Amino acid sequence: MPPSRPGLFLVATAALWWALCSCQPVRARTLAPREESGALRYHVTYVREPQHALEVGLVRVGEGAPLEFLFSQPGGVEQVRVFGRDGSERELPVPADGHVLVPPGTRSLHYRYPLEARSRGRHAGFFTGMGEGDSWHVAGRAWLLRPRTVSPVSSAELVVEGVDALLPWEPDERGVYRLTGEDLVNSGFHGFGGRRCTVRLPGAVVEVAVIGRLSRMDDSALCAWLHQAASEVLTVRRSFPYPRVTVRLVAVPGREDPVPFGMVLWSTPPSISLLVGQDAEPASFTRDWVAVHEILHLAHPVILPRVAWLSEGLATYYTELARARSGRQTPERAWMELLAGFERGRRAVGSRTMEDVVTRGDSYMGTYWTGALVALHLDVELRRVPGNTRGLDEVLERLAASGSIATFDGFGAAVDSVAGRPLFHEVLSRHLTRPAFAELEPLLEALGVERAPDGVELGSTRDSPLRDALMVPR
Ligand SMILES: [Zn+2]
Repeated sequence: MPPSRPGLFLVATAALWWALCSCQPVRARTLAPREESGALRYHVTYVREPQHALEVGLVRVGEGAPLEFLFSQPGGVEQVRVFGRDGSERELPVPADGHVLVPPGTRSLHYRYPLEARSRGRHAGFFTGMGEGDSWHVAGRAWLLRPRTVSPVSSAELVVEGVDALLPWEPDERGVYRLTGEDLVNSGFHGFGGRRCTVRLPGAVVEVAVIGRLSRMDDSALCAWLHQAASEVLTVRRSFPYPRVTVRLVAVPGREDPVPFGMVLWSTPPSISLLVGQDAEPASFTRDWVAVHEILHLAHPVILPRVAWLSEGLATYYTELARARSGRQTPERAWMELLAGFERGRRAVGSRTMEDVVTRGDSYMGTYWTGALVALHLDVELRRVPGNTRGLDEVLERLAASGSIATFDGFGAAVDSVAGRPLFHEVLSRHLTRPAFAELEPLLEALGVERAPDGVELGSTRDSPLRDALMVPR
């Protein structure tokens, strides 16, 4: 999720979303003992009558198939029909906690998820369903009844009928999605219907669904804008981090800001969704930072367990660098944006220590921007290493070589290995125990970044070559 800025009026909702989900994975921590052979087969039918909905049939294949299920985000389905192998049929209410326990001998479960908010008696929601006509955006966690626990051998097949779907995964040639238990738990964002385009990058594709219509931007302009944002990841990483990712663009009526909100969910591969202002001017998309912020989350590993300040700090920091490296903004502008962000962070947390801010997690502005400051500090220190011209970018490359997931300690170890000394905790300890932005002024002074009446002035200091190197494409 992007750090909010003045003028973004989704701030309160965004804060709530962040508290609930953030841009972070929600992964099953509990693994069931190795299951007997057993799988699940989902048949999803998109229906238009009496309202737009997903009708889901879920067949248990084999005796080892799960009996305990869960709507990760309950509230959309009130009852599930359960069919026994003996021909019996019964209706199970879905309780508020979303748990569904079916009797042994159950052959299949059936339920309907209404996509239209009014059918659910609720407001439209980024997770629970937004859209109109035949184009809808919904998170898997809202509509997909998944096993309560999964194991490394859990598997499922899923087919969608009646609409062109954009799920995080790629179906096989027969249109069957072959999923792991983990895919069902972290099922990402889904699009049903809408219009499609493909953004092609060296060695990667970004599949895009456009949901709803914009009054001033056509689909080709939207996809060109997304191409620009996705390309900016290549100013940070040598190659695009995943061979195929999906992005859903969801038009929000009555909005003139280009991207009021965006989020990445850590499905495998990750899935991104962005709200786009229906009445936004084409020029405003050029200044947008939300799309590149979300796509830049793909450039760092998934940090598990979750450390919000680190993942958000990296994406927030690189949002300004990447746009400068691509030429979309000047280095001066990038510094202005960074300084303005640090200032917002400082205003939000006052004299609290970084440790207090990130431990309590009660200020997303503080969390994002203290994280961004640590990222800047690390990048500068890494570039002092003789012969090291790649700084924090190199840390991300090394981590990517070991897979798409890393621990906090693994991140620190990668920093230290690039630095050739124990740098990570040395820098971090300077931030954690002091007021959150105490390191900012000395760092700016050393780098020759000065606040000026109309922005910033970049002077010449001993460290200014390091500063200038930050904004140069890799
Ligand atoms: Zn983010």
